[in-house]
Amino acid sequence: MIIILKRGVSESEIDAVSDKLQEHGYQSHVTRGVEDTIIAALGAPSPQEKDLVAPQLQALDWVERVLFVSKPYKMVSRESHPEDSVFELGEHPDSTRIEVGGKKLVVMAGPCSVENLENTTYTAEQVQKSGATMLRGGAFKPRTSPYDFQGLGLEGLQILAEARRLTGLPVITEVMTPALVEQVCEYADVLQIGARNMQNYDLLREVGKSRTPVLLKRGLSSTIEEWLKAAEYILAGGNSRVMFCERGIRTFEPSTRFTLDLSAIPAIKKASHLPIIIDPSQGTGRRDMVISMSKAAIAAGADGLIIEVHPHPEDALSDGQQTLDTAQFESLMGDLKLIAGAVGRTV
Ligand code: PEP
Ligand code: MN
Repeated sequence: MIIILKRGVSESEIDAVSDKLQEHGYQSHVTRGVEDTIIAALGAPSPQEKDLVAPQLQALDWVERVLFVSKPYKMVSRESHPEDSVFELGEHPDSTRIEVGGKKLVVMAGPCSVENLENTTYTAEQVQKSGATMLRGGAFKPRTSPYDFQGLGLEGLQILAEARRLTGLPVITEVMTPALVEQVCEYADVLQIGARNMQNYDLLREVGKSRTPVLLKRGLSSTIEEWLKAAEYILAGGNSRVMFCERGIRTFEPSTRFTLDLSAIPAIKKASHLPIIIDPSQGTGRRDMVISMSKAAIAAGADGLIIEVHPHPEDALSDGQQTLDTAQFESLMGDLKLIAGAVGRTV
């Protein structure tokens, strides 16, 4: 059950609903949105849910409505929140605040890995000139081989913060372990949960406790339903600002590194109210496909893109083969204006 409260509800009124739910064996999770306050009744439904609990709740003056959600991903599902979720991010004092899920697309661009201050600030300035609204860059890198570059760690976070100070671009970076969530939150405007960690439930619970927005990448071999349930862990923890990110899945096709599943866009839009971002860089593993897949993603209704850009992709310490240079990124942004306009969005 989802209980939507009337605007301007008081804390004691919220507590009264939570107490009633607890009496009937539910756990309650309160989400205080910009306008609405929503309480999710979690746990196995009481046998008296429809006949007793819901009518009693509905009888409270401050309850707007009670919804029955059949899906296991209750707070994530569109049943619980029929309108698209639109939220702001960029609370760091140096960040320019941006909106996600609204008319203007979010474009996150930057190197796969943060390598040094000079390349990172140069890339941030260039992608900003071309219209990017966020800076991406990995400081803690989940590399397939233990002998590959593993990222600069804390130094990488500090470099991202310096690039943000110079440009105002909010920063997204990956956090790989629960123990590092607090530290990464000090620097990041958005926490990236990598594909390899989509089902790391301890990590999902930890980022659920934080109030930093999250980009949840789809696991390499995860179904849409598993992905929705992974997002539910974060929302159930009280962190409602979650974006999905499709980044390609494993199929039998070897000509691309992964198969970018663009049908995830309408699938997620149907199942959930949360925004979806496409990563055509990891999704194809091929620079020559990044521009066309970006355009297709926006045409299909994605809320934004996350794209790898480096001043000299051939020298990048990771994922150079799928990375655009700054001129290619500028050209992509030009193309995106046309596509975005055709589907009622802007860049
Ligand atoms: C990345 O964004 O560089 C990355 C490692 O992503 P993924 O988790 O999707 O592989
Ligand atoms: Mn990468």
